[in-house]
Amino acid sequence: MTNSDVVAFVLFGGSGDLAKRKLYPSLYLNFIKGLLPGDCKIFSVSRLSEEVQAFQAEIFLQLERYVSPSQFSDEKAKAFVKCIRHIQLDVTRDDAWETLETHLERFRHAPIVYYLSVAPRFFGDIAKGIASVSLNQNGARLVVEKPFGHDFESARALNKELRLFFDEHQIFRIDHYLGKESIQNILALRFSNNIFESQWHAGAIESVQITVAEKLGVGDRGDYYDNNGASKDMLQNHMMQLLSIVAMEPPFAFSPDAIRDEKVKLLRSLRPIDADSYSDSCVRGQYVSGQGEASYLEDVDKESSDCETYIAIKGYIDNRRWAGTPFYLRTGKRLAGGVGEIVINFKPSNPELIKSKDGLCSNNKLVINFQPDQDIFLFINKKDNQSESFSVDTARLQLSTKSGDLKQPYERLLGHVLAGDQTLFVRDDEIEVAWKWLDQLAASWEQGGSSPYPYKGFSQGPIEADKLFVESNGWEPIK
Ligand code: NAD
Repeated sequence: MTNSDVVAFVLFGGSGDLAKRKLYPSLYLNFIKGLLPGDCKIFSVSRLSEEVQAFQAEIFLQLERYVSPSQFSDEKAKAFVKCIRHIQLDVTRDDAWETLETHLERFRHAPIVYYLSVAPRFFGDIAKGIASVSLNQNGARLVVEKPFGHDFESARALNKELRLFFDEHQIFRIDHYLGKESIQNILALRFSNNIFESQWHAGAIESVQITVAEKLGVGDRGDYYDNNGASKDMLQNHMMQLLSIVAMEPPFAFSPDAIRDEKVKLLRSLRPIDADSYSDSCVRGQYVSGQGEASYLEDVDKESSDCETYIAIKGYIDNRRWAGTPFYLRTGKRLAGGVGEIVINFKPSNPELIKSKDGLCSNNKLVINFQPDQDIFLFINKKDNQSESFSVDTARLQLSTKSGDLKQPYERLLGHVLAGDQTLFVRDDEIEVAWKWLDQLAASWEQGGSSPYPYKGFSQGPIEADKLFVESNGWEPIK
C-alpha cells in the first residue's frame, strides 16, 4: 500500500455508535502500523458539546474495549487520542461550514478525508457544505456509509448530488464485506491459481450458494428494518457484492476501475426476476416465535407487516461463463446459526469410476467462510485407507492459515481510504445496477401480492425455500 499523504481526517458522527465501536479502533490500528501519518489530525464532528480532555478519555476507553489486547498499548493509545479534536456543529445550519473552515484552514492545501458516519439524509448537505468553503479540493476524499439510497431512483439522485461537489474518484462508498479477509481471498484464489480459474465456469461448477445468516432478530432496529427488510438491508448491497466478486470475469489489470468494470458487467448480466419467474426464483420469509423468543411482529410491535426477515433467490447469470449455473443466495435473521459462507459445488467426476463405501462419491466443494470465522476449505476425494475394497472418502483441506490478528474490515478499508485506493469501494454504477435489479424483484412480488412465509425462530428458514433447488444437493445446513 502506498504511503498516505492525508493531513486531516474529519469524522462526521464522531460521537455515534459506529465511530466508537469500529472507526476509532480502526484508525488506531492504522496509526500503530504507520498507515495514518503521525502528524494527521482527527476531527470528530457532532452536535454534542465535548470538553477536549473528557472526549479523548472517552475514546481511550473505547479503544481499550474494542481493540484486541494483543494490539492495544496504553502508550500508543494515549498518543493516538492526542491527535483527536472535537468540533461541535450542526450540519443542518448554514453557519456550520464557516466553523468547519476555521478548524481546517491550515490543512486545505493537502488531502483531507471526510467520513460521513451520520444518517443518509445528511450526505448531500454535508458534501455541499464542504464544497461551499472550497474544502473539497486538493485530493479531498468523501467516505459514505450505507444505506446508499432506498431504490434505484434515490440512489441515482444521491449519486448525482454528491457528484456536484466531489468527483467520482474522490467518493468512497463503504460496503464493509469488501474489507473481509476471506472475500479478498476469493480474488487471490481465483486469479493466482490456474487449478481454480480454469474450472471456474458452468462446465465444471454445478451451483454456487451464498449465505448470510444471523441468529439475532431485529433488536432495536425495528423502525429502520420494517421499511427495508432483508432485501434492502443485505441482498442489494453485501450479497450482490459477494456475487459479483465470485462470478466476475478476470479484470485486465488489478486496478480499482478494471475490477469494478467487471463487477458492474457481472451485475448487468444477472437475469431479472420478473412476475412470471418470481415463484420459481424467490422465497421471502418472516420469523415467528421460536425457542421462547418473540416473533418479528412482537419485536416491531405491529399487528401485521409485509416485511421479509428472510429472502432466498435462485439467480442465473446470462453470460457465456455461467450459462445454466444456478446461484442460490439467502440471507435472514433469527436463523439456526450465525454464519456467512460461499459454497462452490463442482460437478461430479464423469464417469464415476470409483465410489465411496456407501456407493456415493461426493462432489468437490470449495467453502469460503467469511463470518464469524474466516476460513477456506476444499473438499476432495482420496482413497479410503480403512476400506478393504478400493473406495474413496472425502478429505477437508484447510486452505487458510491463521497467523496473528487478521485485519478487521474497517481497518483495511480505512487503510485503503488513507492510501487513496478505491478498489474495495463501490462505484456509482455498481450501486445503481444492483438497485435496478432489486427494484424489479420487489415489483414482481408486489405484483403477485405474495406475503412472506412464516418460519420458526432459530430454524433453517421457510421450508418453501427448499423448492428453489433444481439439483439434488439442496441448501447447506445453517449451523
Ligand atoms: P448514531 O445515531 O449512533 O450516531 C449519529 C451521529 O451523528 C452522532 O455523532 C450525532 O451527534 C451525529 N449527528 C446527528 N445529527 C447531526 C447534525 N445535525 N449535525 C451534526 N452531527 C449530527 O448512528 P451510528 O449507528 O453511528 O450510524 C451512523 C451511520 O452509519 C448511519 O448512516 C448508519 O446507517 C450507518 N451504519 C451504522 C452501522 C452501525 O453498526 N452502527 C453499521 C453500518 C452503517
